[in-house]
Amino acid sequence: MKVSLADLRLQYYELKEQIDKAISEVIESGHFSGGPRVARLEQEIADLCGAKHGIGVASGTDALILALEACGIGQGDEVITPPFSFGATSEAIARVGARPVYVDVDPHTYNIQVEAIEERITPRTKAILPVDLYGQMCDRTALRAIAQKHNLRLIIDSAQSVGSAQNGVPIASGVDAATLSFYPTKNLGAYGDGGMILTSDDETAEILRSLRGHGTHGHKYHYVRVGYCSRLDAIQAVVLENKLPLLKGWNDLRRKYAHLYNVLLKDIAEKSEGTLQLPQEIEGNYHIYHQYTLRHTKRDALQAYLKEHEIASEIYYPSPLHLQPAYTPYGYREGDFPVSERVSNEVLSLPIHPELTEEQIYYVAERICDFQKSLTPQPSYQRSQV
Ligand SMILES: *Cc1c(COP(=O)(O)O)cnc(C)c1O
Repeated sequence: MKVSLADLRLQYYELKEQIDKAISEVIESGHFSGGPRVARLEQEIADLCGAKHGIGVASGTDALILALEACGIGQGDEVITPPFSFGATSEAIARVGARPVYVDVDPHTYNIQVEAIEERITPRTKAILPVDLYGQMCDRTALRAIAQKHNLRLIIDSAQSVGSAQNGVPIASGVDAATLSFYPTKNLGAYGDGGMILTSDDETAEILRSLRGHGTHGHKYHYVRVGYCSRLDAIQAVVLENKLPLLKGWNDLRRKYAHLYNVLLKDIAEKSEGTLQLPQEIEGNYHIYHQYTLRHTKRDALQAYLKEHEIASEIYYPSPLHLQPAYTPYGYREGDFPVSERVSNEVLSLPIHPELTEEQIYYVAERICDFQKSLTPQPSYQRSQV
């Protein structure tokens, strides 16, 4: 049985008629850029995520860059962020001229260690940029308290957590900004690139709308700041709008599959003497499992074994950012963030998309059990007789 990491074609067939129609309408209208379709989507996603404004942009990376800039982060500022993330998080900080100041991640959730943030705050610290990694929100209450106490901006990289919640509170509630990515394989994916910034602050929203459109204000040839060309296309907006009503069901299905993996793997994980660790969902979190990521001390062997059985898996992420050539100039060394360094050698993400079947989940779990049994030699009958 073949099990893939994503099946975008199956998802398309589910919606083909309405998406084809919506795309044709955009082409017929001749309005490819901005307009009412983009504005409608922005409001729908803002409502879903607990923000007043949504500002569509060209990618999740742009969303981060523009959010930092709109929050006044720039040259010489420090931004606290985890080293265990997709490169775009640190890239955006560096792009606006600020310095990424790393704080290690928690060994169970892989999100930033909130309790270790305060000791890294200096007079130059301007913002905290945590990541809701794999679809699980980092602790908003604690983060908000630190941001308020030290007068820092709180911007969340929510590229992996659209539709997630914590004690019923959605991702963009009570933060300066949260950023989304609509990269095709994200939980809410476009047919190309796209992103969005969510904010409840009117002034920040106004700056963001200006920034994405070349720094204009009022008139399209009146430039009040140096901006960007960062648009969410109308064609992408209608694709996303047609998918949006299904997002909750898809996220619920991801949760159901994650739960099934947990049930099927619980026994071997408990008996694994720490070699296998399943993902942990913190109480109160509605984790949307953008990834179902386990840890294994023999990760590479497990991945190879799964591949032999036609099961795709992926390593998010194989090396922490502080050890990557692009970010070593900031002066970090091996050993600085031991959890990030260790988990990047141990994490493995299994197939979890909503187009899977339960049968496929059973198949993957059974292969992992086989692998685990091959590691621990079974005590032989004869030996136990002695
Ligand atoms: C996908 C992703 C991004 C970047 O999004 P793009 O749309 O690819 O630019 C940023 N941060 C995280 C954590 C992501 O997973």
